[in-house]
Amino acid sequence: MGKIIAVDGPAGAGKSTVSKIVAAKLGYTYIDTGAMYRAVGLKFLRSGQPLTENFLAEITKDIEIKLDESAKVYLDGEEVTKEIRTPEVSKLASDVSKFGFVRKKLTELQREMAAKGSVIMDGRDIGTQVLPNADLKIFLTASLQERARRRFEELKLKNSSVTLDDVEKEIFLRDKQDSEREIAPLAKADDAILIDSTNLSVDEVVEKILELVISEK
Ligand code: C5P
Repeated sequence: MGKIIAVDGPAGAGKSTVSKIVAAKLGYTYIDTGAMYRAVGLKFLRSGQPLTENFLAEITKDIEIKLDESAKVYLDGEEVTKEIRTPEVSKLASDVSKFGFVRKKLTELQREMAAKGSVIMDGRDIGTQVLPNADLKIFLTASLQERARRRFEELKLKNSSVTLDDVEKEIFLRDKQDSEREIAPLAKADDAILIDSTNLSVDEVVEKILELVISEK
C-alpha cells in the first residue's frame, strides 16, 4: 500500500496546485476536501434559505458528494466543478464547515476515500483530525499578500471583476473564521512539516514534498 500524505494550510497557499502535481508524479489519488465543503456551501446557496442549523441538517442528510479521478466534483449527481470556485461559495463553505454534523459526515467520507492508501489529501484538519496517522504531514503556508496575489491571478483568468484588495480581505476573514472555530480548526499538527512557499515556485514546493516522501520510511 502506498503512503498517505496530508497537506493542510490557509487559503491560497498552493495546496491543491502542488498536491495535484505530487499525486500525478507518484501515481497517487488527489483528494480535495475543500471541494467537499464547497459542494455543501453550493447546495445551501441554491436553496436560497437563511443558514440555520436545522435547515443545514436537512439538506446535508442525504447529500451525495463525489470526486472523480480527474478531481471533478459532483453534487447529488451533477457536476459542479466550476460552480464551486466562486468567492461566494468560498465564504459559504467556511460558514457550513463550522457545524459538527457537517464535519462528521465529510470526515467519514474522507477517511473512506483514503483507506486504500496512495493518496494525498489537502484541507484544513487533515493532519490533525481526518488522518492523524498519515505517513507524512505538510503544513503549507505563505504570506497573506502572496496568497491573495495568487488567488487574484487565478480569478482574473476567469474574468472575475474582484480586486486584489477584495481577495485579500476575503482570505483574511476566511482564515480567521477557519482558525477560530471550535471544531477541527485550521491548525498545524505537531508532527507536520512547515513549508513557507512565499518565495518558492510551484516546482520548488513539489520537489521538497517529493524529497520528504522519499526520505520518509
Ligand atoms: O480549500 P478550500 O479553500 O477550497 O476550502 C473551502 C473552505 O472549506 C475552507 O475555507 C474551510 O472553511 C473549509 N474546509 C474545512 N476543512 C477542510 C477543508 C476545507 O473546514 N478539511
